[in-house]
Amino acid sequence: MRIDHLIDGRAVSSSDYFETVNPATQELLAEVARGGEAEVNAAVAAAKAAFPAWAARPATERAALMRKLGELITKHVPELAQTETKDTGQVISQTGRQLVPRAADNFHYFAEMCTRVDGHTYPTPTHLNYTLFHPVGVCALISPWNVPFMTATWKTAPCLAFGNTAVLKMSELSPLTAARLGELALEAGIPAGVLNVVHGYGAETGEPLVSHPDVRAISFTGSTATGNRIVKSAGLKKFSMELGGKSPFVIFADADLDRALDAAVFMIFSNNGERCTAGSRILVQKSIYADFAARFAERAKRITVGDPLAEQTLVGPMISPGHLAKVRSYIELGPKEGATLLCGGIDRPSYAAQLPAGMDKGNFVWPTVFADVDNRMRIAQDEIFGPVACLIPFEDEADAVRIANDIAYGLSSYVWTENIGKAHRVAASIEAGMCFVNSQNVRDLRQPFGGTKASGTGREGGTWSYEVFLEPKNVAVSM
Ligand code: NAD
Repeated sequence: MRIDHLIDGRAVSSSDYFETVNPATQELLAEVARGGEAEVNAAVAAAKAAFPAWAARPATERAALMRKLGELITKHVPELAQTETKDTGQVISQTGRQLVPRAADNFHYFAEMCTRVDGHTYPTPTHLNYTLFHPVGVCALISPWNVPFMTATWKTAPCLAFGNTAVLKMSELSPLTAARLGELALEAGIPAGVLNVVHGYGAETGEPLVSHPDVRAISFTGSTATGNRIVKSAGLKKFSMELGGKSPFVIFADADLDRALDAAVFMIFSNNGERCTAGSRILVQKSIYADFAARFAERAKRITVGDPLAEQTLVGPMISPGHLAKVRSYIELGPKEGATLLCGGIDRPSYAAQLPAGMDKGNFVWPTVFADVDNRMRIAQDEIFGPVACLIPFEDEADAVRIANDIAYGLSSYVWTENIGKAHRVAASIEAGMCFVNSQNVRDLRQPFGGTKASGTGREGGTWSYEVFLEPKNVAVSM
């Protein structure tokens, strides 16, 4: 199969193609057009040309097209989920029941929202001030590989609904479902040029896109290192930067431990551990630490690893051999840093026997749990982005907050306690864009999603998406 760019409503080839492979089997899935400056320029030009007419359409018309696209995604959930699972290794129970359906919700939600964009008035004795919200223009939407279809729609839906046009660039490791998104957008009746999709590598396709002078806003999801690079090369533009994380999952002795255990297991091992909001540093109060660690490791050992297309699989393969090597390097590092390996590890041959036929070359790693982790260890400070849990003991509330905040990142956080005052105090003290109390990560599309510190700037979701996709203008009328 060949995948081309989608520029101005047409499939556009490149002189060169790269391969995307199934990470469970290494089987070739498709050859994908490898874009460069020429393709990026053409896509931005198409988006720029399409912008005035699209922005001028009544919001109700844009909303109707967004809903149609949402319906088409719903109709194609099985196909899209299968493609996403094959391209990324994300397990089918997640892609089929959560991630692809959520993608349809994104279009329905922002269809509704774009008809409700209103302004503010600030009357004074001499002037009537009021605000108008205008679409920004051409937006660059850049997505990582971990949950690519959901992320692409999370960006595309508000971007287009609010009247902008877009050039979408997916990760070179997971381009397939976004290519289908472009096709479905056309099928829904969204005019040519409003959504363009270019494929390729960060340096060759991403760089010319973010530095293009006609691109007015960048919604980027990816690593902190790339986010820093983009901010430097893009120049003055609107930014939403959704970057990496190493989120604390804090469990006090007075927590509902059964529920906390379920949520802790879910927040580090679901999505193969390749989740920006993973609760990868599990802080446990000392009085319950030993018992919790034993129960947690017991649960981790029972997780089914293997074919991501099988319903019962909870952890599929890592996205690429390169990423597998990175995750394995941290698993090797843990014991050298003084952590205790409770389960998992890099002993591949003994585990590999459990893999289904044809998957012996897959990028598999086993759920790994480290106990006795000191927060200053690299396994605790670096984003591993795989199924590797670090269990860190703490003394009391002050100690928990100190450890939680002793990190470069500030994306999500989780607090477990039955003491309501303590829950609120800790939630307020943790340096993170989001805090879930007695809960795993549960998304409401209205909530501000994003992080602080090295986890990014800007928020998306609900009216927070105005920040990147709408330009407020104040009009002051003399009375
Ligand atoms: P990455 O930064 O390597 O790549 C992300 C995207 O940026 C890809 O499409 C890539 O091709 C592109 N890119 C790379 N260099 C570029 C450049 N110089 N200019 C423009 N584009 C460039 O990230 P990844 O490895 O694909 O994804 C994993 C990271 O994403 C993790 O750090 C994870 O935490 C983060 N992430 C964050 C969120 C969030 O919402 N905060 C969500 C998902 C993933």
